[in-house]
Amino acid sequence: MDTTTQRYNDVMARIEAAARKSDRSAADVTLVAVSKTFSAEAIAPVLQLGHRVFGENRVQESQGKWPSLKQDFADTSLHLIGPLQTNKTREAVALFDCIETLDREKLARTLASETQSAGKSPELFVQVNTGNEAQKAGVQPDEADSFLKTCRLTYNLNIAGLMCIPPFDEEPTPHFSLLAEIAERNGLAKLSMGMSGDYEKAIELGATHVRVGSAIFGSRG
Ligand SMILES: *Cc1c(COP(=O)(O)O)cnc(C)c1O
Repeated sequence: MDTTTQRYNDVMARIEAAARKSDRSAADVTLVAVSKTFSAEAIAPVLQLGHRVFGENRVQESQGKWPSLKQDFADTSLHLIGPLQTNKTREAVALFDCIETLDREKLARTLASETQSAGKSPELFVQVNTGNEAQKAGVQPDEADSFLKTCRLTYNLNIAGLMCIPPFDEEPTPHFSLLAEIAERNGLAKLSMGMSGDYEKAIELGATHVRVGSAIFGSRG
């Protein structure tokens, strides 16, 4: 077995164990394999194992490698997990199956018009800046309810869930709990939280999507 296969199998086993520990089914947790910075050649083995959900953080990088991979593996679902500039919205709507980083009204407005003209919409998650970090994207936790209302009522967007990236130097658990609370009171079923270092904790706190990169593909150069 090659290293990527071993690492992938290990992550899948840990997801299964974390789900079981909290009386959840592993089938309710989607592994988003984060393939940013890795080449199509590095991604292909994971596709060949049967995995179909991947995450990328840049539109342009994804346009370089995913259209041909998607052609070979047609049922692939691609998640945008990095910031989206409004001038890249059309390309993002065309390529991605899920956009996890909706975080401001201008982007909501642009997504509303681009999805309408494309006649299709990726699934949408609102990113919440649970740590109130100045340099990080995402709506502030105390503005999340009103932002969600604006997305739904003003722009008629169907929001599937919430996403967060906790401050890297803090214990992530309170951030996962906060995200789960905001989702609950807004009637949102999906929670994208947890990365290579903390996805098991995230699953115990209700993650439906974990975004795992280096634990599968190795460290990024
Ligand atoms: C890179 C990235 C990940 C994956 O990080 P790892 O620590 O490699 O698992 C998850 N989420 C986001 C938003 C990222 O940018």
